[in-house]
Amino acid sequence: MENDLLTKKLTGLQSSFDGEIFTDLSQRLMYATDASAYREVPLGIARPLHKEDILTLIRFANEAGIPLIPRTAGTSLAGQVVGSGLVVDVSRHMTRILEINPGENWVRVQPGVILDELNKAVEPYGLFFGPETSTSSRCMIGGMVGNNSCGAHSILYGSARDHVISVKGFLSDGSEVEFKDLSLQEFNDKCNGETLENKIYRHIRNVLSDPTTRENIRKEYPDPSIHRRNTGYALDLLLDTEPFIPSPVHLFTRLPVYPFNFSKLIAGSEGTLMFMTEIRLNLVPLPPKEKALMCVHCNSVGESLKANIIALKHDPGSVELMDRAIMDCTRDNITQRRNRFFIEGDPGAILIIEFARDTREELLGICQELEEELRSAGLGYHFPIIFPPDIRKVWELRKAGLGVLSNYPGDRKPVPVIEDTAVNPEVLPEYIGEFNEMLGRLGLDCVYYAHVGSGELHLRPVLNLRDPADVALFHTVALETARLVKKYRGSLSGEHGDGRLRGEFIPLMLGEDNYRLFKEIKDLWDPQHIFNPGKITDTPRMNTSLRFEPGKPVGEIPTVFDFSAGHGILRATEQCNGSGDCRNTVVTGRYMCPSYMASGEESTTTRARANILREFLTNSAKANPFDHIEIYEAMDLCLSCKACKSECPSNVDVARLKAEFLQHWYDANGIPLRSRLIAGITTINRIGSTIPFLFNFFQENRLISGIIKRLLGFAPQRRMPVLSSQTLRAYFRTPSGSPTPSGSKTLTGSKTLTGSPTVFLFADEFTNFNEAHIGIKAIRLLNAMGYSVLIPDHAESGRAAVSKGLVRKAKQIAETNVRKLRDLISPETPLIGLEPSAILTFRDEYPDLVDHSLREDALKIAGNTLLFEEFIVSRVLSGEEEPVSRIRHLFTKDPAKIKLHGHCHQKSLASVEPTITMLSIPENYTVEEIRSGCCGMAGSFGFEREHYELSMKIGELVLFPEIRKTGEDVILVAPGTSCRQQILDGTGRKALHPVEVLYDALLQRNR
Ligand SMILES: Cc1cc2nc3c(=O)[nH]c(=O)nc-3n(C[C@H](O)[C@H](O)[C@H](O)COP(=O)(O)OP(=O)(O)OC[C@H]3O[C@@H](n4cnc5c(N)ncnc54)[C@H](O)[C@@H]3O)c2cc1C
Ligand code: SF4
Ligand code: SF4
Repeated sequence: MENDLLTKKLTGLQSSFDGEIFTDLSQRLMYATDASAYREVPLGIARPLHKEDILTLIRFANEAGIPLIPRTAGTSLAGQVVGSGLVVDVSRHMTRILEINPGENWVRVQPGVILDELNKAVEPYGLFFGPETSTSSRCMIGGMVGNNSCGAHSILYGSARDHVISVKGFLSDGSEVEFKDLSLQEFNDKCNGETLENKIYRHIRNVLSDPTTRENIRKEYPDPSIHRRNTGYALDLLLDTEPFIPSPVHLFTRLPVYPFNFSKLIAGSEGTLMFMTEIRLNLVPLPPKEKALMCVHCNSVGESLKANIIALKHDPGSVELMDRAIMDCTRDNITQRRNRFFIEGDPGAILIIEFARDTREELLGICQELEEELRSAGLGYHFPIIFPPDIRKVWELRKAGLGVLSNYPGDRKPVPVIEDTAVNPEVLPEYIGEFNEMLGRLGLDCVYYAHVGSGELHLRPVLNLRDPADVALFHTVALETARLVKKYRGSLSGEHGDGRLRGEFIPLMLGEDNYRLFKEIKDLWDPQHIFNPGKITDTPRMNTSLRFEPGKPVGEIPTVFDFSAGHGILRATEQCNGSGDCRNTVVTGRYMCPSYMASGEESTTTRARANILREFLTNSAKANPFDHIEIYEAMDLCLSCKACKSECPSNVDVARLKAEFLQHWYDANGIPLRSRLIAGITTINRIGSTIPFLFNFFQENRLISGIIKRLLGFAPQRRMPVLSSQTLRAYFRTPSGSPTPSGSKTLTGSKTLTGSPTVFLFADEFTNFNEAHIGIKAIRLLNAMGYSVLIPDHAESGRAAVSKGLVRKAKQIAETNVRKLRDLISPETPLIGLEPSAILTFRDEYPDLVDHSLREDALKIAGNTLLFEEFIVSRVLSGEEEPVSRIRHLFTKDPAKIKLHGHCHQKSLASVEPTITMLSIPENYTVEEIRSGCCGMAGSFGFEREHYELSMKIGELVLFPEIRKTGEDVILVAPGTSCRQQILDGTGRKALHPVEVLYDALLQRNR
């Protein structure tokens, strides 16, 4: 009731607010979690347009007594942005870089600027922002300062706090302040007066002048030599400032004394003291260009920690550790598998040691010295040195580490609980020894991973947070670790912050007196506790408000797809840990998630979709738990591009989840006519192809096709697809169809009567009906290369049925195809496809779609199904030293420039490399790949009226602008039929299938 009233008030607030306010259940559920184990459903979400909106919210919060939870990308690992108040998301509108001052090496930004975007903007000045979190592709400066984040190079660049020059924003009473370096005089002036700002200055002067308080801080805070110390408020740093040590050099430490600056306290205060609206940051020169990584393979974590101490003597930029468990998790991730190229054998741990120097000779020298020293100490067994561009792959593997941990099978997962401890690197081996002893006593396994160079280890014990006993253990491990870290004068948080996870242990870590002081500070700065309460002070017990309700039974949810490998569909949604990799922007060059990239809305991220589905599958009271409009809305803008399947470190495959969901949604709500027609397009085309000219007349006539589009809900701007005058199959039945090298045709075995090898071409529904000319060219090309081609009897691929969510129909199709093809397809007689979305259905969906009795057959076919380009590269071009020369003479020597846009399913499930290799067979052809993700069309998605705008926006991200600046002399290539249509609609340029280009390059074409 009280909540209803607050919700009403919140809705009423919209009239005096320029940004947006949401109180609907969907948005609230999407913002109920971050990247931690916590969950609390907020009252609402506000997205301020400017700082005046934030002021409005602060006034409202004071009046209504509801807390504000400042939030940027929401990648916090300790529950910093989880709370029951109003989440204030500044990531949508407050994203501007306000000023770059290259002369003085600083930049002024709004809190919602993404780290990678900031670094891209200042790179031309030879500068960058030093602290580099693993989440740099989406984490934002407000969040980095809020959490005092740092990264792999903290040995060199420290943490966000070290680079904050000033912050501007609002105190809890709505007064605007700027915290920056103050001279002694300015500091004393600030202490005079009765504003809240005056009071907080006066208070800090009083407390930090008190000898007992000073003594307490010095005694209880972590060892100052540990740079990563993120526990509690950073009062220890304020102690060494001018007002408290009136000499330019500290008497005992001989370190310089700094001017007083409250922004050092704000950094790491987790949104509990003020709301930042502007941040001024120091920038540093870009590191030396020459870099190398030495990836020391060790037999155990203990060995690697000893190697770390030696490595640190050689002045590295960073030293990172990955243990065996982390590396094992990357084996099954499509993207990360490609990044494991440097791993040899089965190391217990790998130390990644980065060096940056002016020349490669210096780098090699230093690596050699280090290797010799490690070998003579009996540490490490393999020492590969990696140079650019492969360095990127190693870092990607390392960065994905935290995310891939969700791939741990079953309910037991490596849990962030003590994942952020930092101790002096010198004592790391002893600390870990005791830590392991504790885990052994508690009967737990652990995953090790981290920035060992600075003494930080991400330790994640493997727990089942569904099990009440493990939830109790969760607390025990945290408490015992806190005691251990305290013993080693370490920091319970090195970079991730306290949040809800570690706040409870601050009194233990920093002492009761210092904790009382924190509470005093919070009460003075924010008397009504409107700023992110429950973090740093008054934190609830750390094993409450968890994502999973301990002890709650998890029922079986029947599905059409087989989700059993991941323990059911609910567990598949739970794979999402909130890491936010799906909030990429185009700057990162990655492809997940196109709907977010184009819209900037959290609700269109992969994470939001997984969160919503998980919420309803967990808490629905309906017999059909899929029957919720909120899930439908969350899934609606998913293009089923499958980028998440390969790029999400946790393998969250929303395309499949969406397909499964839609089937159950239709069960309750009926199948819309448009979906039926799209899923049944093969039948429509089959009928149409009996009189193609009439069918095409209807499709092309503006009036008639306009009426059809309006009636069916297609975008009026789109051209309706037309049919080929003759289908590929019809052509194949003619005497000239598929002549083998000797003119024979057979379906019996791997060789034709003449002995030329046979391949089976899949006449997918798009090539067969709409683009038969591509199929014909493919056949002729294969013949020219000495292959006999057969089109076996088969059904359509089922792609349209899958993407429209008619998965039962898709299942029938898949089973038909498996039955028809199982005796034909083998390693010697592979199945080759031209349209990536269709042929890859065999590899991706069929094995999990068919009846269990057909699974082995489906897997066998999947293993022998290839894209045309893959076939050429893996079979035609293989087996000899210079295989290409064997067929190169068949093709023109004329030069040609090609620009290639790969299909999104191809990028996710296969690779564009074979397409590039195939198109480079003619010796003077050069191929450049356009780094675009999904084109935006995605089958029928871009045809649908309500999706047209988003579809074109996605095209405009990279693809269309790239094509517009491409000269007419360049051949555009796109293997996907939808992509070619999207390119035509978006740019007016015609793109070709790779087969067409290669066929046209043949010297002797069979017409
Ligand atoms: C896979 C993974 C890897 C990670 N790796 C690292 C790493 O290498 N190093 C590291 O340090 N961290 C790491 N983190 C943690 C996290 O990414 C960082 O803390 C990051 O800087 C948080 O940024 P964000 O934009 O997501 O902030 P959010 O989570 O949205 O917010 C972080 C804090 O800042 C506060 N805040 C945000 N905006 C404001 C504002 N305008 N005013 C006041 N307070 C504000 C919030 O209230 C919150 O307390 C990792 C997390 C994940 C999931
Ligand atoms: S969907 Fe994947 S990438 Fe996105 S937040 Fe979840 S785990 Fe991370
Ligand atoms: S399939 Fe594509 S659009 Fe859908 S959630 Fe995954 S990345 Fe986003």
